[in-house]
Amino acid sequence: MSEKKFPLNKNELEALAQQYPTPFYLYDEQGIRENVRAIKKAFAVFPGFTEHFAVKALPNPVVLKILAAEGLGADCSSLPELLLADMAGIKGEDIMFTSNETPAREYLKARELGAIINLDDISHIEFLERTAGLPDLISCRYNPGPLKEGNTIIGNPEEAKYGFTREQIIEGYKILKQKGVKRFGLHTMVASNELNLDYHLETGRLLFELAVEIKDKTGVALEFVNLGGGLGIPYRPEQEAVAWDALAGGLKKLHSEILKKAGLEELAIHTEYGRPITGPYGWLVARAIHKKEIYRNYIGLDACMADLMRPALYSAYHHITVPGKDGAPLTETYDVVGSLCENNDKFAVQRRLPKIDVGDKGDFVIIHDAGAHGRAMGFNYNGKLRCGELLLRPNGSVIQIRRPETIEDYFATLENVKLEEKGA
Ligand SMILES: *Cc1c(COP(=O)(O)O)cnc(C)c1O
Repeated sequence: MSEKKFPLNKNELEALAQQYPTPFYLYDEQGIRENVRAIKKAFAVFPGFTEHFAVKALPNPVVLKILAAEGLGADCSSLPELLLADMAGIKGEDIMFTSNETPAREYLKARELGAIINLDDISHIEFLERTAGLPDLISCRYNPGPLKEGNTIIGNPEEAKYGFTREQIIEGYKILKQKGVKRFGLHTMVASNELNLDYHLETGRLLFELAVEIKDKTGVALEFVNLGGGLGIPYRPEQEAVAWDALAGGLKKLHSEILKKAGLEELAIHTEYGRPITGPYGWLVARAIHKKEIYRNYIGLDACMADLMRPALYSAYHHITVPGKDGAPLTETYDVVGSLCENNDKFAVQRRLPKIDVGDKGDFVIIHDAGAHGRAMGFNYNGKLRCGELLLRPNGSVIQIRRPETIEDYFATLENVKLEEKGA
């Protein structure tokens, strides 16, 4: 079981909404900090452990600064993400650049920042050498193909566009070594939102065994393996989080068993977790403004899938609660929907909920576990403006860390073009 809490009561929320009208995201700084401390404590069994927070999960520099202050690095995959990491004071090898189909200018920026470049393909060795030059330290992304099962979000590794095959990765390290690269890492990411502990331990085993094979076949002693992201969170109350201690402890056991005899006991562990770092500590806060009773009963929110796309994109479950009605009986069955002209704009489908009041002063509706891949995935389709982001500080105050988009923002990229008059 995972408890679905929200840090403010209804009165506090009403006061906050006076200053910052709904919808908005709210993040809990204290929750994030305590979570990161627990991760770092569990993984302290590995000297040199680095968690590079996946910036795409929550690309706000204030949050990145908080994570950096707790000792995390960043995982970036685009030029703006590299700039965000830099803005947050995350420097050099604390930045992992795990990109694919990478343009030359992004490799140049990654080189300039001294980030660890993680190559997605064997052909990128030559591309990187020609465009930005080869750094001393290079990592390669491995795609185990049929050797590993994937899951619904990321798909089967065999069908996934990422990484080198097994033959290519051996060949890749040989080429890199011959070209004078001195330090090496290995990376994989084979699943997304996976809650099964054994699955992640097996990924560790796969990489450790590959590290041994790479040493045997190429003489390259890897400096680190990066287990990628993909660790799930319990979106449903009946699900259970993966325990950090069990994960780090299980990996440690495999690490000792497999790597000691190969003389690779120094191999460091890196991760690129996004979702489990901030996901449970962010909420999308909306208000119920309309109720509609046709073939089904609908609650219409002032937020829509432009603010949070996961339910529409993956049919993902996000828990919903109604402040002030926590203990109330779940007497109603609603589809909780947004205003986009797309019928999959539904935060919940046929969900049992307490009776919800609607209108200007209608009930708040809290959409849980929205702290990763939430606001970040937002878009402007249908002329929707993305909402802002608030941060609940450890002292109980709330600050705005991103304002809501305005109509001016929406029009900002248009050119002021004058078309010639008819007949001119
Ligand atoms: C998305 C992504 C991550 C983060 O995944 P989470 O599920 O948020 O932990 C890490 N690494 C890479 C390469 C990714 O694409």
